[in-house]
Amino acid sequence: MITEATVRSATITAWMTENSVAVRGQRDRLTQLDAAIGDGDHGINMVRGFDAVEQALAGQGGDPLPGQLLITCGKTLVATVGGASGPLWGSALRAAGRSLGDAAEIDAARLAGAVDAALAAIKDLGAAVVGDKTIVDALEPAAAALRDAAGTGQPLSRSVAAAAAAAEEGARATVPLQARKGRASYLGARSVGHQDPGATSTALIMRALERAVSRED
Ligand code: ADP
Ligand code: MG
Repeated sequence: MITEATVRSATITAWMTENSVAVRGQRDRLTQLDAAIGDGDHGINMVRGFDAVEQALAGQGGDPLPGQLLITCGKTLVATVGGASGPLWGSALRAAGRSLGDAAEIDAARLAGAVDAALAAIKDLGAAVVGDKTIVDALEPAAAALRDAAGTGQPLSRSVAAAAAAAEEGARATVPLQARKGRASYLGARSVGHQDPGATSTALIMRALERAVSRED
């Protein structure tokens, strides 16, 4: 019998390392995107946040469950990132962690539930909907793709790859949009023609999850 890959505590730690590497590698691009329609700090914010997350996880003793780890990550982002993305991703990870309860092994359906919870938290806090040119434009299609793929019985990494592809497509689709939430909305029509930085980093975060999960397959 083939054992289905699951997300475990080690996967969450690996995901956060991958996030840190990914946002550091794309820091200048994220900052340039934010310089075009915001205040040019998104790359710096994400790097600072995930660096702090890595440190917080390294300092955690005991044998924390995946949900507990995600709650720690979320609290760390809220505490260390000054920009809008900190509280938004912070509450998203906390909500994802809470949705996992005390599960030690997370299958595709449960992971899809956690991403749904993350999306719901971001929408609750930021009141954005798809089309507003925000994180939601990448995360909502990713959550939907993961939910759809979770029911098909394919390897978990394939399901997460589908979610990451949907996030990338959602991020690209923000280019022609006019921002209706966040700092970019102050620009009105001048926000058109630029990819949203937060949607862009969201796609990086979903690709990072795919890499972390691939190790389990
Ligand atoms: P700030 O805008 O405070 O400088 P960042 O530059 O780190 O913060 O993040 C900007 C990103 O935050 C935007 O590109 C957008 O994707 C996201 N964002 C801003 N407001 C919202 C909101 N209300 N809901 C969802 N995402 C948002
Ligand atoms: Mg900014």
